[in-house]
Amino acid sequence: MSQKDWIEKDYYKTLGVPKDASAADVKKAFRGLAKKLHPDSNENDPKAEARFKEVSEAYEVLSDEGKRKEYDEARALFGSGGFRMPGPAGPGQGPGATSFDLSDLLGRMSSGAGGRAGDVFSGIFNRGGSGARRPRRGADVESSVTLSFDEALSGLTLPLRLTSEAPCTVCAGTGAKAGTVPRVCPTCEGAGQVNRNQGGFAFPEPCRACRGRGLVVDDPCPTCTGSGRAPSTRTVQARIPAGVRSGQKIRLRGKGAPGENGGDPGDLLIAVTVSPHPVFGRDGDNLTVTVPVTFTEAALGADIAVPVPGGGTVTVRLAEGTANGRVLRVRGKGVSRKDGTKGDLLVTVEVAVPARLSSEAQAALSSYAQATADHDPRAELMAKARQAGGAR
Ligand SMILES: [Zn+2]
Ligand SMILES: [Zn+2]
Repeated sequence: MSQKDWIEKDYYKTLGVPKDASAADVKKAFRGLAKKLHPDSNENDPKAEARFKEVSEAYEVLSDEGKRKEYDEARALFGSGGFRMPGPAGPGQGPGATSFDLSDLLGRMSSGAGGRAGDVFSGIFNRGGSGARRPRRGADVESSVTLSFDEALSGLTLPLRLTSEAPCTVCAGTGAKAGTVPRVCPTCEGAGQVNRNQGGFAFPEPCRACRGRGLVVDDPCPTCTGSGRAPSTRTVQARIPAGVRSGQKIRLRGKGAPGENGGDPGDLLIAVTVSPHPVFGRDGDNLTVTVPVTFTEAALGADIAVPVPGGGTVTVRLAEGTANGRVLRVRGKGVSRKDGTKGDLLVTVEVAVPARLSSEAQAALSSYAQATADHDPRAELMAKARQAGGAR
C-alpha cells in the first residue's frame, strides 16, 4: 500500500461509513464486512478475497488515529491540487519510495489471540495467496547433555528444558498491546530499510525508527516490550539412542525453534558428553575391560567371572596356559548398533603377581620353582640376541 494509493482509494466508501464515523463505527463496519467476506466462508471466491483485502486495507488505515489523520490530509491536499507525500521522509529517501504490502503486515500477525482485529487476519494470507509472507523455518537449537557410561550404552529419553525465541504469545507476535495493531513505519514506509547516502552512493541500511521491522508500535505489548518476540521455555522429550558416543551430536528433527508463518520447525542438536567408566572402556562398538587373573588360573586354566556393563557378570573360560595380555572376546556384550546387533566385550587378561605371600604359599611356590628348575624362560631370548649380534 503506497501513499499514492491513499489518493486513489476511498477507504470510507470501502467500509461503507461516513467520513466523520467514530472509531467504534469504523470497527463495527469492518467486523461486519470481515465476517461476511472472510475466506473461510468464501472459499474459491477470488472476488470476495479481493474485497476482503480492500476492506482490511481500509481498516488498517482508518482504525489508526494517526494514520487516518494523515490519510484525510493527503486526500484533502490532493483535492486542492497541492498534494505532497504525507508523513516525515526518512534520510536519503526520495519520493516514490517503496510501497508497503498489507499482506506483509497481516502475515506478521500470527494466530492465537482472540477478540482483536488481528485475529481476523490470522493465517488467511498464508494459504499461498500472491502477497503471502513466506513461511520461515525455525532456527536450529543447540543443547548439551552429559550422560553416564551406562546411560550412553542403554540410551534414554531425557526431558530437556529449552529456551528459545518465539512469537510473543500475549500479542501473537505483533508487539502491540492487546486491542491495538502496529502501524506501518512512517520513516521507511514499511520497507524495514532506508538508503543512506555516502560518497555519492546510496547504501541501504536497517531503518532505525522501526529497527528493520517495517512496523512501529505505539502501545507496546507489556510482555515483550513491543518486540513481538519473547523467550519461550518448553520441555522437549529428547530420545538419546543406545550406543551414543562422547562428542557425538544428535539431531532431532523438528524439535528446534518453531517456524513462522507455517514454516517448519528447526532441529534440535544435542552435543553428548559421556562420563568415563571406572571399569569399562570403549573401542568402536566393542567394550573393553582388563581382568586380573592369578598365575595358577592362567597356567592351569579356569572359569573366571567377568563384569558386564549394567551390572552382572559373565563366566569366561580361561584356557590352560593363557598368556598374560591375551584378549578374550565375549560376543554380544558390547555396544548396541543401529541395526540392533551388538558389539563384543574384549577381555584383557592380566596376570596379577601377589605382593605378599603366606609362608604356606611361599613353600608351595618354592616347590614349584624346584619342579621347573630345568626350564629357562629366557633361553629363546638369549639365543635370538646372540644370533642378531653374530650376524653383523
Ligand atoms: Zn508481546
Ligand atoms: Zn522503519
